[in-house]
Amino acid sequence: MGIDPVVSARSENPDPRIVAASESSIAQAAELLAQGKLVAIPTETVYGLAANAWDADAVRKIFQAKNRPATNPLIVHVASVERLADAIASPVDPSIAEQMSVVAGFWPGPLTVVCARGPNIPDIVTAGRSTVAVRIPSHPVVRALLSKCPFPVAAPSANPSNYVSATTARHVADGFRPGADGGASVELILDGGPCQFGVESTIISARAKGPVLLRPGGITAEELRRKFAAIGCSLSIGSDDKEEKSAKLAPGMMKLHYSPNTRLVLLHQAHDCPAGMRVGRIAFRAIDDRQASMYATVAVLSETGDLREVAQHLFSALRRFDGLSLDEIHCDVCEPTGLGAAIMDRLTRAASTS
Ligand code: AMP
Ligand code: MG
Repeated sequence: MGIDPVVSARSENPDPRIVAASESSIAQAAELLAQGKLVAIPTETVYGLAANAWDADAVRKIFQAKNRPATNPLIVHVASVERLADAIASPVDPSIAEQMSVVAGFWPGPLTVVCARGPNIPDIVTAGRSTVAVRIPSHPVVRALLSKCPFPVAAPSANPSNYVSATTARHVADGFRPGADGGASVELILDGGPCQFGVESTIISARAKGPVLLRPGGITAEELRRKFAAIGCSLSIGSDDKEEKSAKLAPGMMKLHYSPNTRLVLLHQAHDCPAGMRVGRIAFRAIDDRQASMYATVAVLSETGDLREVAQHLFSALRRFDGLSLDEIHCDVCEPTGLGAAIMDRLTRAASTS
């Protein structure tokens, strides 16, 4: 893998907002959130840009900083199943209550569920919907933070809208520069190291008719299907619900999303690098020297093609290559099953030009 001059130059200039996660910095982050300020937080999926979910003014700052359309609802994070009532209405329908117990089996972890919204969640969080997306994350730093907050925390991915999600504290700082529009409002970036999953959470909707997969992510459709089958529920893919369809029209579910500025080409077939072009190659497994020598730079995401490693390193490689003034980025593809579904979902959006 080529050495990245952009990253090495930047690391000589540390951003004072990046603070290693510790008991005292986590306490400081909780205090800032209580004051209605924005804090970037590590989670097991990607970094989040957090605000007190009960405070509409604080949540408005998230939309401003990210330049996120007000129609794109946020995910709310809570510390435990006992704290779910801070965000959601208790399920009236017995089937939804059963589905919630299956979901709870995946928590803490990268699974988000859309269900009836609780009375204290302001409109801005859900873009006016009667439902709210909620999850209990597993990263120890965000868990410690949530347990110190007497409110739930709204946190979308900590990247400017439509850019690649952040999987390190440095990525967050790069996206929200002090003095730039919106950037000044990010008060503190808690550094909890690189994210373990590297892709956003799986989103399902709990509905009386049965659960629906809205977005593939760190928890696979196959795992969910198995657990739901045990309670006699079948998991549908995609939604025919009017409200959720309109959430699909929100940028988080739109085709053009997660895009680097450099043109991204997906290698659905074996492909030689075009002559005379500076191309960066993202490989899912080791490639031979002849192949590697054709590219300006190569990132091997996993020596063995392990999709967990591919997901973990994908956004970092896209960001790194985007800083190298390449003509194009060429990236491997995989079967869209298991974790491959989330990887291909993000890559297809990143490569989309419409
Ligand atoms: P992000 O936090 O950036 O990963 O985006 C969260 C995504 O969750 C949004 O783009 C929506 O598509 C989805 N979402 C959040 N709330 C709802 C909801 N109430 N109904 C349906 N989808 C939702
Ligand atoms: Mg996002």
